[in-house]
Amino acid sequence: MTRFADALAAIVGRENLFEQGAIDDRYRHSMGRKYVGAPAYVARPGNTAEISAILRAANDARVPVTALGGGTGVVGGATALPGGLVLSLERMRRIEEVDSNSLTMIAESGVTIQAAHEAAEAQQLFFPLDLGARGTATIGGAIGTNAGGNRVIRWGMMRDMVLGLEAVLADGSVVSALGKAVKDNAGYNWKHLLIGSEGTLGIVTRAVLRLRPRPLTTATALLAIDSFESVVSVLRHLEAALPGTLSAFEVMWDNFYELVTRANAAKRDRPLPLGHRHYVLVESLGSDPVADPGRFEAVLGEILSKGWAADAVIAQSPRDSERLWAVREDLMEPLSALWPMFAFDVSMPLTAMPQFVDRASAGIRAAFPDATILIYGHLGDGNLHLVTKVGRADEEAEHIVDSAVYDVVGELGGSISAEHGVGLMKREFLSRTRSPAEIQMMRRIKSALDPNGILNPDKIFSPLT
Ligand SMILES: Cc1cc2nc3c(=O)[nH]c(=O)nc-3n(C[C@H](O)[C@H](O)[C@H](O)COP(=O)(O)OP(=O)(O)OC[C@H]3O[C@@H](n4cnc5c(N)ncnc54)[C@H](O)[C@@H]3O)c2cc1C
Repeated sequence: MTRFADALAAIVGRENLFEQGAIDDRYRHSMGRKYVGAPAYVARPGNTAEISAILRAANDARVPVTALGGGTGVVGGATALPGGLVLSLERMRRIEEVDSNSLTMIAESGVTIQAAHEAAEAQQLFFPLDLGARGTATIGGAIGTNAGGNRVIRWGMMRDMVLGLEAVLADGSVVSALGKAVKDNAGYNWKHLLIGSEGTLGIVTRAVLRLRPRPLTTATALLAIDSFESVVSVLRHLEAALPGTLSAFEVMWDNFYELVTRANAAKRDRPLPLGHRHYVLVESLGSDPVADPGRFEAVLGEILSKGWAADAVIAQSPRDSERLWAVREDLMEPLSALWPMFAFDVSMPLTAMPQFVDRASAGIRAAFPDATILIYGHLGDGNLHLVTKVGRADEEAEHIVDSAVYDVVGELGGSISAEHGVGLMKREFLSRTRSPAEIQMMRRIKSALDPNGILNPDKIFSPLT
């Protein structure tokens, strides 16, 4: 054992420390297995004090530290540097409090999103963050990436759900502000600096999460829409006609819908026939069991009668609703058939989306005429996902495809990352949608908080920028 390993073992106990060959694959591989880390150590601390002691030791020994939550991040953010330490939050899964008066939950960072849902539900409350990886993704990972997901249109991103935060900085100092107030303008809001910083500025240990009253009604529908203009009209109409209850507006382009419903045909029927340009999953969560269902049906009726949607199916039961959601969420198997593929998570003004789809697709097909290109996304938040299989997976092909997509995103005033972060995957393209002055400011913040560069040092910034 090295002296550093001895120090780690003294902090977390030998049973919570793994080294070199004894490190399980789940600590090395990221989602999609594209990035393979080469950590020399994995430590599984049990509390904030242990994380503080670990970071002090790592800072002294200049060992890079990468926080690992559920490992569902898709940009290689939790991939450890060779010789580095993976700090796994898997033992920090306590929900310390659900306060039904303040509408708050205090959770350790290793708590899964689903466990947070269930703890809130047990008190007739609701934690709105929701995404497909809910069973594995953690509160710490969601804070690290400022995760978005399905209900941003109504409740915002993770940033909007964190009232208080506790974190350990690179030198081991603990910053804790576990307040429950919505308003707090006392000086710099350091909490928001850490949210979305991908483990590069501090390790999140605990958070005060904002809860909401549990919705009493759920209405879900799938619409078939034949033009992008009508998609926008439908969105604006729903926002106006269902004020405060519209909770999801997920759009799937035709070939995405076809691929997913075909691949999952043995599991469930296709809810609407093929042949339309867009399929939109709409959800409204309300509080009036008497009026809400009729109101939802009436609004969909208006949308059909105005000719914006060509067809629609409304869920008649929770099971129906799950089956509609599965069209959008049961993606892993269908998309794995496209492997090796390149996946993008970008944002832009709604009105720029048709241009983005046309220009990015043309750019990809100029190099790879037979490319398969699928598009879907959280359209109500200006967020599109593009997935493409071009028949090659080498670095040159990846660079061509990345450039085709990110150049257009930059020109249309968008962002290279809507909700997944930058990690290793996008760092070369950060300058497409961030100015030199912004990147310089980010670097200054990084070096002020982590002067020895031990916290996830190779993420977000390219060595070349
Ligand atoms: C099927 C599927 C669907 C998804 N859908 C969505 C979606 O709709 N919206 C969305 O935003 N994302 C989505 N994701 C991506 C992913 O689930 C989220 O980014 C999630 O927040 C990551 O959580 P995690 O615990 O797995 O984090 P990890 O993958 O373990 O880590 C992600 C990043 O956060 C850092 N980190 C982890 N824990 C901490 C901590 N305690 N302190 C500081 N930094 C930390 C890591 O170092 C890394 O940089 C999806 C992923 C999958 C596989």
